[in-house]
Amino acid sequence: MSTPATASLDEIARRCIHCGLCLSECPTYLEVGSEPDSPRGRIQLMRHLADGALAPTPAVRTHLDRCLDCRACEAACPSDVRYGELIEHARGALLAAPAEHPPALERRLVDWVVHEILPYPRRCAALLGAARAAGTLGLTSLLRRSSWLAARFPALRQALDLLPDRSDRRRAGDSVPHAAPPTGTRRVILFRGCVTSVLTPRTAGNVQRLLVHHGCAVDVPEGQVCCGAIHYHSGRRFEARQFARANLAALAGDEPIVTFAAGCGAMLRQYAALFAGEPDDSARAAALAARVVDVSQVLLPLEPAKPLARVPLRVSYHDACHHAHAQRLRTPPRQLLVRIPGLELLPCAESDVCCGAAGSYNLLQPRIAGQLARRKLACLNESGAALAAAGNVGCILHLRAAARRAGSGLRIAHFADILALACGLDTNPDWS
Ligand code: SF4
Ligand code: SF4
Repeated sequence: MSTPATASLDEIARRCIHCGLCLSECPTYLEVGSEPDSPRGRIQLMRHLADGALAPTPAVRTHLDRCLDCRACEAACPSDVRYGELIEHARGALLAAPAEHPPALERRLVDWVVHEILPYPRRCAALLGAARAAGTLGLTSLLRRSSWLAARFPALRQALDLLPDRSDRRRAGDSVPHAAPPTGTRRVILFRGCVTSVLTPRTAGNVQRLLVHHGCAVDVPEGQVCCGAIHYHSGRRFEARQFARANLAALAGDEPIVTFAAGCGAMLRQYAALFAGEPDDSARAAALAARVVDVSQVLLPLEPAKPLARVPLRVSYHDACHHAHAQRLRTPPRQLLVRIPGLELLPCAESDVCCGAAGSYNLLQPRIAGQLARRKLACLNESGAALAAAGNVGCILHLRAAARRAGSGLRIAHFADILALACGLDTNPDWS
């Protein structure tokens, strides 16, 4: 099995000195406890797959499929092993290699939804509409209670749990289809994302209102599409590049590009690596990546239009992997939250251990994703918080589903929604 970039990938893999410092940071190693489910073990598997010493057997595929691509190992590595690049190339190579057994029907259905529906907002909205119609007929709750479905089709059962409830219903002014009134002086481009803008339009609207409230003139260019992360992380590099090329055209300019989903921000910053070996696109991609900022980074140095209202809440913070590890971004969201009068920010153990959402991981690996969600909920509950804040829609929906399943009263919200409440921009939030 080989990829066009095998030589440079081998060079990256050879940097691994087998020190094992990454093991205690790896969520799957923490849960499964075996070397092939650790970063060090997977690097060995990927090297042997690349040099042909190992065949892509079902067992090998399982160990690599179990990787969350959370990149916690990369952040912990003293030897600069760029693990993310290794696993993404390996997934592409596995996809191209003939499998011993064809994927099961459920896996093919999930793959189709993940790659052909979710990245396209209109298709995603149609699916969500159909799911909501089923919900009003009582079908969703019936299916959620079905032990047969949970045992036979765990991924579909998981997908039902992830459907947003009341809290993310669209209100007037939600979603981000419009340029804001030209009142601000600091021009920014808002990247709305695909799934995020459909599943959490309220957060998307709040982010746009927050930027305006802090003096920004917000442009939301037409023509922007999914960042490509969904395809890139599953090894579909060709499709990821198509999305990226559309975004390179739509987001042209020199204004900061503001993201409010950790996964989108990390992917846009990775565009240069996506076009490695293609000098023209790679240079444009690097220029775009340098303009990408998280909404927390933009808001932090700016003053709101009026003083923040009191929000007497005990809050803890969950670091999304693609904030903490991929973008090394931890403090700005916390600094925004501690400014809010009355809000108490409580420390959380293992705040940067993956919650199990990891893009489509919670659909494809529901068992480990469920274990990680329970581990995260235990830490958040232990913190004493009534509300957990995060900066990634995938984590938020996954943890809300886990909290519902566990009968926990813990609520989960995007940090921008909490700030919008303090700014008087969202007066009736519902984070259940
Ligand atoms: S920390 Fe880095 S060098 Fe050490 S085992 Fe992990 S990947 Fe290899
Ligand atoms: S990316 Fe995450 S799950 Fe995968 S090996 Fe690294 S730490 Fe473990």
